[in-house]
Amino acid sequence: MHYHQYYPVDVVNGPGTRCTLFVSGCVHQCRGCYNQSTWRLDSGIPFTQAMEDRIIQDLQDTRIRRQGLSLSGGDPLHPANLAAIFQLVHRVKTVCPDKDIWLWTGYQLAELTPEQQKVVSLINVLVDGKFVQELYDPALLWRGSSNQVIHTLR
Ligand code: SF4
Repeated sequence: MHYHQYYPVDVVNGPGTRCTLFVSGCVHQCRGCYNQSTWRLDSGIPFTQAMEDRIIQDLQDTRIRRQGLSLSGGDPLHPANLAAIFQLVHRVKTVCPDKDIWLWTGYQLAELTPEQQKVVSLINVLVDGKFVQELYDPALLWRGSSNQVIHTLR
């Protein structure tokens, strides 16, 4: 997996203070997407074991308390990202069980493959659906267009 940005302290993408990772790779090609540079799987930089370790350390940092981890992109549920994302969310749930995980995807919850569902079974909130420019509403919290749904899973 590759990624574009990592914000160790983020107050914009999800509730509270969070760590946020924007991964590479997206097949949805939504018109009006403002993360087009993330579409290619080989864009950005490689997501290494050291980067995964850093995220865990940041989540465990007691000086700046993080509520959780946000995963966006690109699409964290792109089939090519699933192995690395599963490893990351599994590790977060194991060693930081008090942290919540939010994940943004262009897929819809009802259409997820078993491999994608495996990741979703470990996260707290899924924000799903493509960005639809005609349904864009800047007043919406944590989503760009009104077709997208915030699913609080657990
Ligand atoms: S799902 Fe997100 S990253 Fe992918 S094309 Fe749509 S808006 Fe862009």
